[in-house]
Order: sequence, then structure tokens, then C-alpha cells
Amino acid sequence: MFFKNKKIERKILLEKTVLDSIVTFCKMKHPNEGILILKGKSRKGAIKIDGLAIPPFNFSGPTFAGFPHSFLPFDNSYIGIVHSHPTGSAEPSVTDLNNFFGLVSLIIKSPYDDDSIFAWDSSGNTIPLTIN
Ligand SMILES: [Zn+2]
Repeated sequence: MFFKNKKIERKILLEKTVLDSIVTFCKMKHPNEGILILKGKSRKGAIKIDGLAIPPFNFSGPTFAGFPHSFLPFDNSYIGIVHSHPTGSAEPSVTDLNNFFGLVSLIIKSPYDDDSIFAWDSSGNTIPLTIN
């Protein structure tokens, strides 16, 4: 009861080199959506993203991107996904939330720069993102 209001403070740490790879990949996929698996570690609410993987059998179009989760190999370094929104905001769509994978969903919108990327949890709440 005493800990009722205690919340784990969540934050995302994204390596700059990983962000650069995401930006390059999404610019290449534009005007279609791009999707990648995020690799990293989670410790006491802090999620550190230090790598990427290309999902198997991925498919994408201007307003959707996905992959069949059943084809994913078991790998506990897979902590979430990142995908791009070539048009519109970086807010997750209902489809995005229904297809939530892992702990965090990053969405990068056009024009794909350092200020275009946002982190979300499975409820569609934003999580503070630090690039370093
Ligand atoms: Zn989306």
C-alpha cells in the first residue's frame, strides 16, 4: 500500500550511431514505411538501445509496415521495434498499438532527423528519449 504511488521512472537511451542507421534506412524506404527490430538492454526501467536487426519477411507500404512475429527467432536482446511514418505525426496508430512488440516502440516521422523520433509504450504513452 505504501508503494501505491511509486512509479518506475522509464527512459530510453538511444545510441547516436543507431539513430543514424534508422534515419538512413527510413530515408531509403521513403515514401513507404520502414521497420526494424531494436536490440538492447532493459535495467530498472532504463532501456538502452544499442543495435538493430532487420525483421524477416517484412512488408511495408505508405501507411503500414510489419512482419509476422511468429517468424522471430527467440532473442532476448530484441526489446522493441522502430518504424517510420512518412506522412503525418509520430503518434502510434491503433494498428501500431495492436502490433506492439517488446518494451518500446520508436516512431520516426519525415524528415527523419534527431527531432523526428519519439518513444512510446504499449498504452501509447510517450517515454522520454535521450540520444547519446
Ligand atoms: Zn505506425
